[in-house]
Amino acid sequence: MKNFSGYKCSLCGAEYLQGQVTYTCPKDGGNLDVILDYDLIKKKFQPEDITSRTEFSLWRYLPLLPVDEPAGDSTPLHAAGWTPVFGLPRLADQLKLKHLWLKDESRNPTASFKDRASAVVVTRAREIKADVVVTASTGNAGAALAGMSAAVGQKAVIFAPKSAPQAKVAQLLIFGAKVILVDGSYDDAFDLSIQASNEFGWYCRNTGYNPFTLEGKKTAAFEIWEWWVEAHQEWHQKDNPLDEHAPLTIFVSVGDGNIISGIHKGFKDLFELGWIPNLPRIVGVQAEGSAAIANAFHADTETITPVSAKTIADSISVDLPRDGVRAVRAARQTGGTYITVSDDEIIQSIAELGKMGVFAEPAGATAYAGLVRAAASGAVRSDDPVLVLNTGSGLKDVRAAMQAVAAAPVIEPTLSAVKKLL
Ligand SMILES: *Cc1c(COP(=O)(O)O)cnc(C)c1O
Ligand SMILES: [Zn+2]
Repeated sequence: MKNFSGYKCSLCGAEYLQGQVTYTCPKDGGNLDVILDYDLIKKKFQPEDITSRTEFSLWRYLPLLPVDEPAGDSTPLHAAGWTPVFGLPRLADQLKLKHLWLKDESRNPTASFKDRASAVVVTRAREIKADVVVTASTGNAGAALAGMSAAVGQKAVIFAPKSAPQAKVAQLLIFGAKVILVDGSYDDAFDLSIQASNEFGWYCRNTGYNPFTLEGKKTAAFEIWEWWVEAHQEWHQKDNPLDEHAPLTIFVSVGDGNIISGIHKGFKDLFELGWIPNLPRIVGVQAEGSAAIANAFHADTETITPVSAKTIADSISVDLPRDGVRAVRAARQTGGTYITVSDDEIIQSIAELGKMGVFAEPAGATAYAGLVRAAASGAVRSDDPVLVLNTGSGLKDVRAAMQAVAAAPVIEPTLSAVKKLL
């Protein structure tokens, strides 16, 4: 809690002290940004103090986080973050790009990006001695909260739509959370979880509601920063160094808009500290059937008009995005944009990534589907360096994955049957 002095409303700019508010702005319901004491951090730390650490998880960035390190260094909380970045040269060729990478967030302990948020929120919950934590979730936020809570013996309650993929529901149950399936949409679960949180005094993790989720999610930006600096150094030793000034373009799938806002916040932190000269371009990708934020971006407004969401990508199926305003700004303030893709394109992208050894759930493959569109339309050019995030594992939604491939043949157990087939 050392480097955190309070909150600032992202809508009206009102500032609050630590104990004054817990969730959103009392005046207008705006999402709150956690205020870090940049001057103090700058005085106490150099980038090398962080990049030389031997902690390989999101706790590497402790000086930039608003919580203390959780007790015990061998729980799944210390497995969150520090995900790998892979080059994708064959897909780069296909798209006529020179530089393409994928950061694989499916490697997190509960197999999605959401672990970053939940590790930090559970740590916060312990600090404020919350008895029970609760969240609404399409599945992944709940799995992450349930998993991180189980790791430290924290009680958790999860509200999810009853349509959530089986594997995600299994994760919730296996992690021992109290699981409540709602006969309604994610948005229904969201509203209900807040009512229950108020009624029973539970600490609510909801995305785009609890200010600490963003603080966990921003750690992906810190990792991208470290990776990018190192990648530059390597290329400078080769014949064909990357243009020093070519900005990185990051593709990320968007539902509530908290991941993209978190990545933006991470880079803003680094910029405020003077540790990076400029921000990368951030491109948000939404499913056509769940595109409230993309709609606002292209209508040049910050007013988010809800849609009636329908997409195979359950993790980004949202009627009213809860972090829409900051999500619009993430693209607008970095020279990025918003792209929408169809469910067919998402399914196709699951297959394309699969052939590269990456198994993405539909919402994870959505970012790549956006890149395919952007490369075709010229929104990214061939020498733009591009990083795509895979936000969740394909194992979480096997039914969707099976739509991306032809069924396997079944044969008699004889060699002649094999020959006939081949
Ligand atoms: C939650 C989630 C997203 C979108 O994050 P938002 O903060 O809702 O925009 C994307 N992909 C996966 C796999 C997710 O679980
Ligand atoms: Zn406000």
